[in-house]
Amino acid sequence: MELPYAEPYRIKTVESIRRSSRAEREVWIAAAHYNLFNVRSEQVFIDLLTDSGTGAMSSAQWAEMMLGDESYAGASSYYKLKEAVKEVMGFDYFLPAHQGRAAENVLMSALIGPGREGKGKVVPGNSHFDTTKGHIENRGAHAIDCTVDEAFDPELDRPFKGNVDLGKLEKVFKEHRREDIPFCIVTVTCNTSGGQPVSMENIRAVSALCRNYGIPLFLDAARFAENCYFIKTREKGYADKDIRDISREMFSYADGATMSSKKDGIVNIGGLILFRDEEMWRRCSTFNIMYEGFNTYGGMAGRDLGALSVGLREATELSYLESRIGQVAYLGKKLVDYGVPVMRPFGGHAIFVDAKRLLPRVPREEFIAQTLGIEAYLEGGVRGVEIGTLLADRDPDTRENRYPALELLRLAIPRRTYTNAHMDYVAATLANVYERRNSIVHGYRIVREAPILRHFTVELEPARS
Ligand SMILES: *Cc1c(COP(=O)(O)O)cnc(C)c1O
Repeated sequence: MELPYAEPYRIKTVESIRRSSRAEREVWIAAAHYNLFNVRSEQVFIDLLTDSGTGAMSSAQWAEMMLGDESYAGASSYYKLKEAVKEVMGFDYFLPAHQGRAAENVLMSALIGPGREGKGKVVPGNSHFDTTKGHIENRGAHAIDCTVDEAFDPELDRPFKGNVDLGKLEKVFKEHRREDIPFCIVTVTCNTSGGQPVSMENIRAVSALCRNYGIPLFLDAARFAENCYFIKTREKGYADKDIRDISREMFSYADGATMSSKKDGIVNIGGLILFRDEEMWRRCSTFNIMYEGFNTYGGMAGRDLGALSVGLREATELSYLESRIGQVAYLGKKLVDYGVPVMRPFGGHAIFVDAKRLLPRVPREEFIAQTLGIEAYLEGGVRGVEIGTLLADRDPDTRENRYPALELLRLAIPRRTYTNAHMDYVAATLANVYERRNSIVHGYRIVREAPILRHFTVELEPARS
């Protein structure tokens, strides 16, 4: 028989985690005002809040942390990272930043402006990540979502639901002046639409369209390696190609990229800005020096640059990606077997549970996905994150709640951190909540909230009536 995937590593250091009782968790979640961001990590058994900066580094990465020197200018680990960036992504120029949003801030300061110069400008893309959108809107510009319609049907099983709709994109190019479109950004994989990949064919076509209209194309490359794996396994013509060849081809269609290294860099902090040409690198380096640090460290310690240089190579090993994406699918399949409704196909980094279908009796005014998140925590000490009405926030003009089409509980899986026995536990936790779904009729109401990005700090109480 064909041998299954197995992790291409063994475990050398472990961190103890503790299973608490339901009674303990009831006290803790009430003290946290029913906001999972306020729960201490020691009060969580399996933490699937995010896959960002939560992965486990390899012994080779830890060794590199010791080898790198901490020079302000020209650290040896900077040059190691430069080599890795060239080998894995094909770029000659790059700037380090302290994380992904910092990279976005630098790039947009150069391409849109450091202040409110974005008024009247638009940045098209595929379901921009929230910090990307934040940096665009904070400059007075607008992010225009050009994702294919199929992305918004949670049950539709299509290979590349992160794709850009070329018709929608060209419409933006036709309706706005060239000088009002500073750039176009394609997120690989598309986090906001469920960790869904973008095909090489689509990236190539977007690139050609951008070139026709003279618009620079950037990739938001936080999960570039996972996207390459999906291209290899789902797109015609790529089955026999090496992940790094796919990666270099993918990036070759772009003028540059931003990256949160906390995802496919497999480090706990860091970011990158990548450039095709020297002129753009020069323009951005002025802002990088002001906001982040000198060109050869940019907000990162020398040791972290070294760990990232190894992480980029490890993240693009096929055996690693097979076990990484295989584990996400393992959890997805378990949930499906238990009848728990989840988004299809399974994403690269997370499983998205369809909370509206799982808890049909909770009214939307009482925050369905948040209610599911709290139930999963109470049931098994599993922490996911709400992608629903709390996150969608209020309309800035009317101050009414915005109710998104989908209410999701995201279970993001940290890289190389948990075993499949942990996944069995998570699936059983959700299955138990699903079993008693008809007894869950009430959600929560807001006691206190911030004017923007409320989900991080919101305080709730049970809505019993
Ligand atoms: C995480 C992420 C970012 C922001 O990166 P940080 O390192 O969290 O600042 C940007 N884009 C995407 C797609 C992300 O997943």
